[in-house]
Amino acid sequence: MGSLRDVIVLAGAGLEPWRCSRFDWKGDSVAAIERSEPVLSLENGALIVIPGLYNSHTHMGDSCLPDGATGLTLEQGFFRPDGFKYRKLAAIAPEEHLPHIVRHLRYMARTGTVGHIDFREQGPKGSELLREASRATGVESVILGQFSGVPFDGAALAANSAPLPAAALRELEAVLSAADGFSESTMNDLTDTAWREIRELTGRLGKLRAIHCLENAGYRDVSLGRTGRGDLARAIDLFDPHLIVHMTVANEAEISLLASSGKTAALNPRANASLGLPLPPVRALMESGANLLLGTDNGMLNSPNMFAELDFTYKVAKSQFGDAVRPDPLAILRMATANIRSVLGSDHPGSLDVGSPATFVVLDFHRPHLRATRHIPASVVTRVTPEDVLATYRAGMPLYQAEGFPGEFVR
Ligand SMILES: [Zn+2]
Repeated sequence: MGSLRDVIVLAGAGLEPWRCSRFDWKGDSVAAIERSEPVLSLENGALIVIPGLYNSHTHMGDSCLPDGATGLTLEQGFFRPDGFKYRKLAAIAPEEHLPHIVRHLRYMARTGTVGHIDFREQGPKGSELLREASRATGVESVILGQFSGVPFDGAALAANSAPLPAAALRELEAVLSAADGFSESTMNDLTDTAWREIRELTGRLGKLRAIHCLENAGYRDVSLGRTGRGDLARAIDLFDPHLIVHMTVANEAEISLLASSGKTAALNPRANASLGLPLPPVRALMESGANLLLGTDNGMLNSPNMFAELDFTYKVAKSQFGDAVRPDPLAILRMATANIRSVLGSDHPGSLDVGSPATFVVLDFHRPHLRATRHIPASVVTRVTPEDVLATYRAGMPLYQAEGFPGEFVR
C-alpha cells in the first residue's frame, strides 16, 4: 500500500499529464488516480509519475564487456562463430558472468526500466543465467534464447532446404524450456525449412518469436542472393515473429510490408549510430502506422538507460520530420511504455489506470533543470537523467528507491 499526494501522473494509454490530488497503489495494482486538471508546464517543480519503462531489445549477456566492440565492425564484433562477443562470452565462467548481469539489471531499475526483452546467447545455459539475475533484481526479463552455435554449414545454408539437425532440435527444446521464446541473429543463420520448424514448435508451446532484420544491407543482400527474397519478407512469411528488431536500412517497400503485416518493430537508434550504421527511418516508420518499440541493444554497445534512448530517438525523429510540431514527444514515450502491450499482452498495459499493475516510475521535477518546464512530455523525454529517478516500482514492488524516498513523499 502506498500513496503519493499532489503529483502529476502521465495517465491512461495516451500518457497525457494530469494534476492529481492522489496516486494510490495497493498490492500489485493501482488503487486510485484522482485527477484534477490536465497540465503542461510547471512553475515550481512537482513529482511526476510515469509508467515503468520497457526496453524491448537488449543483450545483457555482453554487459560484462562495456565498449568492447569499439573499433570493430558489426560482423567482427557480433557475428558467430568468431565475433568478439561470442569468443569472450565462451571464456567467462557463469559465477563471474552473473554479477555483471545483476548489476546491469539494477542499473536498468535505477534508470526507470521495469522490464526488458533480451536476446540471450549461449543456448539454455545462457537463458538460465539471465533468469537468475532477473529473480535477484525483480526486473522482468523476457528471455528469448538462441542456439549456442549456427546449426548449419555454408553449403547447407546455400542449398536452403535442410531441416534442423537432431542435436539442434534437442537444443531448441532445452532453450524453450528455460526461456520465454526464441530469437536469432539473422534470417541468414538458418534454412527456410528450419524457420518453419521453429515457428511450429514455438507456436505449439505458446512461446514468443523475435528476429533481427535489416540492421545493415548485408541482411537483405545475403537473403536475396540465397533465397530470392529479402530477410524481412522471409521473416514475416516463415517465422511469423511477434517482434522484429532494427529496420535500420528498411526501404519504402519494406516499411509498407511491416505495417501491413501488423508486426511490431523495436528500433535501436543509439546502437545503430554506435556501429556507424545509418540512423533508422523513424519518421517513415511512424507515418506507416506500425507499432514501434525502443531498445538499447547490446550491453557492450550502450548503457541500458532508456531515458538516453528516448532523448536520442526524439531528436532523430524530429530531424527527419523537419518541422516544428512533429513528432509528439508522447508518441516517442509510448514506444517505451504503452506500445509494449501488443507484444507482451494485456497484463502489460504499459500505462497507468485504476486496476492496472502498479508499475511506475517517480521522477523528481523539483530539480533545477526540470522545475520550470514549459512542456512536461518534452522534458520527460529529453531531460531526465538517472539522478532524477526517485523510485521504480513493478507490480507494487520497489525495484529501486533513491535515498530519502519514500520519506515525506509517501504516506
Ligand atoms: Zn540484438
